Amino acid sequence: MQNYDYIITGSGASGLMLAYRMAKDSFFDNASILIIDKEKKTSNDRTWCFWENGEGEWDELLHKSWDKILFESNIYKNTIPLQSYAYKMLRSGVFYDKLWNFIETKNNISFIKANVISILDTAEGVFVETSICQYRAVKLLNSVDFDQKYTRQEEYPVLLQHFTGWFVETKKNYFDDSVATFMDFTVDQKRNTRFMYVLPISPNKALFEYTLFSKEVLTKDEYEGELLKYLATKSITEYTITEIEQGVIPMTSYKFWDQNSKNILHIGTVGGWTKASTGYTFKNTSKKTIQLIAFLKAENDFTHFRKKTRFWWYDLLLIDVLSSYNHLGSKLFSTLFKRNSLKNVFRFLDEETSFIQDLRIMLSMPPLRFIVALFRRVLNF
Ligand SMILES: Cc1cc2nc3c(=O)[nH]c(=O)nc-3n(C[C@H](O)[C@H](O)[C@H](O)COP(=O)(O)OP(=O)(O)OC[C@H]3O[C@@H](n4cnc5c(N)ncnc54)[C@H](O)[C@@H]3O)c2cc1C
Repeated sequence: MQNYDYIITGSGASGLMLAYRMAKDSFFDNASILIIDKEKKTSNDRTWCFWENGEGEWDELLHKSWDKILFESNIYKNTIPLQSYAYKMLRSGVFYDKLWNFIETKNNISFIKANVISILDTAEGVFVETSICQYRAVKLLNSVDFDQKYTRQEEYPVLLQHFTGWFVETKKNYFDDSVATFMDFTVDQKRNTRFMYVLPISPNKALFEYTLFSKEVLTKDEYEGELLKYLATKSITEYTITEIEQGVIPMTSYKFWDQNSKNILHIGTVGGWTKASTGYTFKNTSKKTIQLIAFLKAENDFTHFRKKTRFWWYDLLLIDVLSSYNHLGSKLFSTLFKRNSLKNVFRFLDEETSFIQDLRIMLSMPPLRFIVALFRRVLNF
């Protein structure tokens, strides 16, 4: 049995970012830290995008950034300047490389490639059972989803943000790479919330992602059929698909943090760090790992790490509405973007607005469904 002060299970976005922050902070220099993952990732398995106000920590790694976005639906279309914000794209390969290169300079941090089977918090420490052997830690930070518990409950509806993306390269120059298409709802909604997300990287390269917020994933043929149709409507006929990206991200207000114990903290998507109403996780992970470093220095009981805020309620109501009326997504997002400045929308989604600003945004949305959802929730609590 090997003992550590900290074990981090899973070294994807959240586990690796946390290990990197611990490596950079001399407070942890004398702590023994073990990272366990079934693979040490180096590839571009994720394209992370996020909006950010001004300069940011990951700017030197960015693949591309845009200062304008296009929102389009059958009721509203606008190319919106982002002003002091930028929409930033980071490909995971350079992120993994940079962080691992730094982490590997530290003698107190080691990595083991193994399949994590189970984790258990006991009075004698946290036990981590892997395909190789058992380890014990004082504290465990876990980003491995063992059992997808959120799929086996009914209190909080679960939508999936699911997508297939094609990196497309054309012979001719087709794309205006100064504008990212944030959401194009002009695609056939088929009683769901469906949109195309287009990130032009250069005049002849772009990522097209056919995306849904809905309960069920589609077949491979369905995503591909819609991508083909969309490219044809844009008169893009001669192209090569250079890479494919697929993903399924849970969108739910399920209280992931209820699974935390004194010595086990769930982080990343399994820690509830995905914004339920948007599926965005990366920037929140950046923020949360900074908060977590401060917490590790000052406190001992992980059940105190998460604090429920009013934004949790807003997300809950939106997911309730979209879950019951999935076909309304295009209308709801169109109204949000049409009636509010983009800066306020970003600040609201980043949970940085005041209560008065929240009210203004919420009153700008079609109220009926939200009021019904609110009453249902209040009656159930
Ligand atoms: C294709 C894709 C694109 C995305 N794009 C965006 C985006 O643009 N913007 C955004 O904000 N969010 C995005 N997300 C959502 C989110 O940012 C990512 O999913 C992010 O990687 C979540 O980080 P994580 O640490 O929770 O999980 P992961 O990064 O998935 O890390 C989990 C780690 O655990 C390891 N693991 C799993 N099971 C075991 C096991 N049993 N034993 C050992 N190791 C195990 C895995 O190998 C992995 O390294 C995207 C997600 C996907 C899938």
